[in-house]
Amino acid sequence: MSEINDLRNKMDEITLEMVKLLKARTDVAKEIGEVKKSIGKSITDELREDSLRSKVISLCNDLKLDETIATKFLNFLLNESIKVQTSNKQTHLSIFFKAKTLEEQGKKIIHMEVGEPDFLPPDIVKNALNEVFDKGFLKYGQSKGMPVFREAIAKYVSEKFNTHVTQDNIIVSPGARFSIFTAITTLLNPGDEMIVIEPAWPAYKDCALNAGIKVRTIKTTLEQKWEPSIEQIKNTINTNTKMIVLNYPNNPTGKILPEKLQDEIIKLAKENQLYVLSDEIYSQYAKSNWKSVLSYNYEKSIITQSFSKSHAMTGFRIGYGIADTKIIEKMAKLEALCLTNVSEPIQYVAMKALEADTSKNTNTIRRRLEMLSQKSNEIGLNFVIPDGAMYIFAQLDKEGFDGVKFANTMLEKGLAVAPGEGFGDYKNFIRISACQNEEILIEGMNILRENIGDK
Ligand code: PMP
Repeated sequence: MSEINDLRNKMDEITLEMVKLLKARTDVAKEIGEVKKSIGKSITDELREDSLRSKVISLCNDLKLDETIATKFLNFLLNESIKVQTSNKQTHLSIFFKAKTLEEQGKKIIHMEVGEPDFLPPDIVKNALNEVFDKGFLKYGQSKGMPVFREAIAKYVSEKFNTHVTQDNIIVSPGARFSIFTAITTLLNPGDEMIVIEPAWPAYKDCALNAGIKVRTIKTTLEQKWEPSIEQIKNTINTNTKMIVLNYPNNPTGKILPEKLQDEIIKLAKENQLYVLSDEIYSQYAKSNWKSVLSYNYEKSIITQSFSKSHAMTGFRIGYGIADTKIIEKMAKLEALCLTNVSEPIQYVAMKALEADTSKNTNTIRRRLEMLSQKSNEIGLNFVIPDGAMYIFAQLDKEGFDGVKFANTMLEKGLAVAPGEGFGDYKNFIRISACQNEEILIEGMNILRENIGDK
């Protein structure tokens, strides 16, 4: 008995010592955070993390300790550092909320910060809203979504993307965002690693951080036309890597990967048994050749889609995920826990929306993007012409340019743009979106031109 007590006492001592070290580590992380802030350095430094990772692995070899466990523990510590160093990062949403407050005070603002189409949902949607009460879609239902709706989605997806999926491969969610959240949260465990190619919509990273998952960032550049190299990805993969996130056409760059590069990424993912989370909500707005990840028939892929952008139904909060049934079941369990099921009336309305012809939306956004590209060229912005989506991600390359400061100054002049920082380490970039009519966009671009001198 005394032997086990001795061992337990020793265990307690070690644990308390570890907690003290954690406190010391967190204090240093905070100090580093302050320094980074004062010199305008971004929070995550992949090179530094890699160097520490190598030291930990080398120590594991000396100690004969399983490096997978040790690096998971390291990932926990690295995420904690990120958490204490993260202050209020300004994203397109924070600028949007500020713009809204200014509007309430009577100021006129041109919204080129958010990705919300200005046009209305299809007419079918209005009729469906009118008839849904009498149709009786008003109750609790399956967490995965109404079978009749999932059946309709499966048919729609199979035809549109030239593949074969059934309703068992579909989960309906309140926006693509929630499918992204359930996929990341249910498929990965704390300490696992997920690869995100930046610039990226911030929620992938935030979902991972929230679930204790370590994000490994692949930074792409405008000079490389926003293409990651296969080597970069290869070098990031280790035994803890469980998922890679793709988002093409991309928010914010509008990039579509060359088919060969996408093929290689999927091949690499297959070789390493990685989940591929492919967020394809801008597929409706692909200008050049684009290939859905569905076409690879990879059993560890999860595709997210939404009615928000294609059908201008942002406020309805409806989207869906497409994956192998085992994955769908896992996601459905969390969805049931969080919200029972997506509102039945909204599911009915979205089911009807599937019948609508949305090609007009596609053409509208395409035309606007062309116009915005031309105007951006005229005023000397540095950018890659988007292959799709609804945005231009432009560099304002004057020394010391701070996108957040610039976005705030522009608000005073009546124009809202999104700071590049919200999408990764892109301080000297802004994102402008094509979600207003051409007249308003031209007015916005004129304000931008007038103020670029102040950048
Ligand atoms: N993915 C990307 C790339 C997005 O830009 C957005 C919204 N801006 C979403 C997902 C979320 O879409 P939803 O409204 O369907 O949740």
